[in-house]
Parts: sequence; structure tokens; C-alpha cells
Amino acid sequence: MSPVPTLPDSAGAAPAALPRVLLADDDPVARLLTSRLLKKAGYDVVAVADGERALAALRESFCPVLLTDWEMPGLDGVGLVKAVRADEWPGYVYTILLTGRDSPEHVVAGLQSGADDYLKKPVHEAELLARVKTAVRVGTLERRLRAAEQEARRLSLTDALTGVYNRCYLTTELAREFERARRNQRPLSLVICDIDHFKKINDTHGQQVGDMVLQAFASVLAESVRHEVDWVARYGGEEFVVVLPATDLSGAATLAEKLRRLVENSELRAGETLLRVTASFGVAAQPGGWPSETAPATLVERADVCLHRSKQEGRNRVTSAEA
Ligand code: GH3
Ligand code: MG
Ligand code: MG
Ligand code: MG
Repeated sequence: MSPVPTLPDSAGAAPAALPRVLLADDDPVARLLTSRLLKKAGYDVVAVADGERALAALRESFCPVLLTDWEMPGLDGVGLVKAVRADEWPGYVYTILLTGRDSPEHVVAGLQSGADDYLKKPVHEAELLARVKTAVRVGTLERRLRAAEQEARRLSLTDALTGVYNRCYLTTELAREFERARRNQRPLSLVICDIDHFKKINDTHGQQVGDMVLQAFASVLAESVRHEVDWVARYGGEEFVVVLPATDLSGAATLAEKLRRLVENSELRAGETLLRVTASFGVAAQPGGWPSETAPATLVERADVCLHRSKQEGRNRVTSAEA
């Protein structure tokens, strides 16, 4: 499962070293002096001579701070800032414009292009370092906020006990899978499984062991399906759903049988205890190439009916819906 993108190291949680600063200036002397000043202060500096090279450098290796001269041949500072703002980056790019022009109109134009700050050339060394420090501080806050958002998103989509997707994710994402399958005229299958006589595990070994069995069971499912294609959600107590995009009924039934055997033959670790369980399965599929008005809930219902038949017929078995 990967609903949440990860950030590269340079934009990740609180870096130990000072961050990389991208410096764009067509004046070789100014470039050298500013670069030297920043390096002396401990920054990792990437220095380039124009806006195009700055964009290329940023694409190659993300920099959370961009210091750019305004007047440069080709893509100038304002053009560069606009281009940076128009694109997607792994983190926020704090931009500081450096220029000899400092009329209020220029300051306004520079900031309106998307720059965060503005420094008059020739730059005062201590002031430049202080402004870059502010940029680093803002970048750190932005990374923390982003990480907190990602964590909140992850928690809202996953089941706290087992780590697989939760029911809320199942409802919204299954509808999307349906739409995708419909558009691409591909089949979509769904397997529901329920641990057999799970109540007995709780009654015999206690709720905590029951919880660990659920965790181990969910891991067996999650590790046995196609990575980043199929996905597992906890449907309810000891009931899970496996969603199989681009898979027809016979493929899904084969997978369900593989899972059934795997569960039957696995020793699930619950602390010091090793336990064996079996599970019953129900399989339903939406064939590709329809026009069809079938709703996601209908597919779930059909798989659920099959699951109940598996229970009625003695458990530890797979039942597939009629195609
Ligand atoms: P069947 O083979 O018919 O499915 O029998 P079963 O005992 O598995 O089914 P039943 O629905 O009778 O019981 C399910 C049990 O699962 C009862 C409930 O307490 C337990 N359960 C549900 N959620 C959790 C949980 O998060 N942790 C633990 N430990 N137990 C849970
Ligand atoms: Mg210049
Ligand atoms: Mg059960
Ligand atoms: Mg159940």
C-alpha cells in the first residue's frame, strides 16, 4: 500500500546538516562570493549561471532554498520563481530574489512572482545569512506540517490494529477501482475472507492473543497479493477484503484458494504462542468489457453471499459467485 508519497532525504524530517541552497547568478564574481559565504556558513551550495540551469539542478536534486539573481540571460529570476511555483516539488522551495533594483514597484513585482523574500545587491553578508536562516526555519516548519499531514492521512486510511486499509478506505477506493476498471474495460475481482471459529481463539487464549492472530492473519494476506496492485482492507472484526484489479473470476478464485491453503498451513505467531487457524472465502468478479451498472456494494454483497455458503458448507473453503 502506498497512498502516501515519501519525501527524499533532502526534504525529509529535520535534517542533521544544513540544507542544500541553490544559487542562480550570471555574474561569476557575485556567484563565487555568495557561494563561498554560504559554504563557510555550512550550507551545501549548488551554484548555476541562469534560470534554466537552476530549474534543471532543482529537478536533479531538490533544494529547499533558492537564492536567485533577478537579471540573468534567458530565464531571469522572476521567470525562474514563477516556473518553480508552477511545478510540483517534494517540498516547499523558499525563494529569495537578489537584485540591484529596489523600488517599491520592483519589490512588489518580485514578491508577486512568488518569491518569499527580497534582498538588495550588493548583499550585506550577515543579512544574507540571516535571511537564509529564516528560509531554513520556514522549510523545517513546512516539513513538520507535511509529515504530520501524511501521518494523519495514513492513520485515517488504515486499520490501527492490523495496518491494512480500513473500511472507510475500502468504500472510497473500491468505487475508484470500479470506475477505473469500467474506463479501461478490465475485470475487477473481490475476495472476502473470514477467520473460522475465531471467537474460540478469544475465548481460549484471551482477547490479546486474538488481536495478535488478527495481525498475523492480515500480514499473511497482505504479503501474498501483488505488490502495489492488489490491496487488503479490514471489513469488520475478523473479516477482510482483498481487491484484485484486472483479475477475472477464475484468477481471483485461484488466488483465494492459494490464500486458503497458506492460512491453513501457517503458524500464526501470537507472542509466545503459535496458533493455526483456517478461513472461509467468497469470491465475486465484475468481468471486463461490459456496459454494466453494477455498483461496488453489489460486488461486495455477491462475495459475501459466497462467503456464507463457504461457512455453511463446512468452512475452510472457497466459493465463487456465478460469472
Ligand atoms: P465463524 O466461523 O462462523 O466465522 O465463527 P467466528 O467465531 O469466527 O465468528 P463470530 O462472528 O461468532 O465471532 C467473531 C469474533 O471475532 C467475535 C468478536 O469478539 C471477535 N472480534 C472481532 N473483532 C475483534 C478484534 O479486534 N480483536 C479480537 N481479539 N477479537 C475480535
Ligand atoms: Mg544578473
Ligand atoms: Mg469468523
Ligand atoms: Mg465474521
